[in-house]
Amino acid sequence: MISEKYGIVPIKESNITKGFGENGHNAIDIGWNNPEYTYCEVWAWKSGVVVANDEEDDTGFYVDIEHYNADGTKQVSHYVHLKKPGGIVKVGQEVKQGDVIGYRGSTGHSTGPHLHFCISKPYTGAYNKQFVRDNYLDPTENIYWSPNKKYYWTGFGRGGNKIKNMPPEITPVQKDTNKEQIYIKIDSLNMRSGIGTTFSSYGYAPIGYYNVLKKAINVYTWYEIAENVWVAQTKLDYAPYESLEYYPISQEDIDKAKIIKELTAIQTDFNNKINNLLGDLR
Ligand SMILES: [Zn+2]
Repeated sequence: MISEKYGIVPIKESNITKGFGENGHNAIDIGWNNPEYTYCEVWAWKSGVVVANDEEDDTGFYVDIEHYNADGTKQVSHYVHLKKPGGIVKVGQEVKQGDVIGYRGSTGHSTGPHLHFCISKPYTGAYNKQFVRDNYLDPTENIYWSPNKKYYWTGFGRGGNKIKNMPPEITPVQKDTNKEQIYIKIDSLNMRSGIGTTFSSYGYAPIGYYNVLKKAINVYTWYEIAENVWVAQTKLDYAPYESLEYYPISQEDIDKAKIIKELTAIQTDFNNKINNLLGDLR
């Protein structure tokens, strides 16, 4: 089982009430805006296998899920202070991204309902509770957040919305002078769902060549590289370099296409005339 490239926020619309690294906090605390969400569902960050569903003094009820990265490494996601009686999944159970694994609560050392959530650094070998607890990453760097990164998101949880808003898998193509292409030169160019920086970002496009489906200009020149996935040629103060290069179809290819079109028209015209003459003779 291979995990998704991007994780999801494991709880519906919420704020981060305590950030990663704040006073040695090796996770994020996801609080709530709305009492209705207090004991809301907790969803699997990515697909994986449950490796722990237990209770401890500090954590209260918690669940660990192991995920399998495409490069062969593994990662654990860790969900803490779940509502009593704990996770609704069993150790060894496979879960899909967005599956309900438990409910947000306030068990263990907690002052109010919130989800203490983090992910481990990638590792190889067997799941080791202590290793993953000593080696956490900031999950906000590994989640597809809302466009403005304000630590909440809309329409990005379980159900249809999740699929609709998932970042598409974008992979570069071969260089092809018969096609209108761009070459993305930097690894931090946002892919957006529309023409404009207010459109939600899908994350960064991998460096490489892409076929241009459409072109549009507002403040920047935008290129559509997959359906509803746009990147812009930016030249900003903080990025004093060209983010991409544009390659129109070569002049030679344009000329060839023009000649073929002309020849086809002549041939069609000729065929029509011949048919008319034959028609007259009959
Ligand atoms: Zn916490």
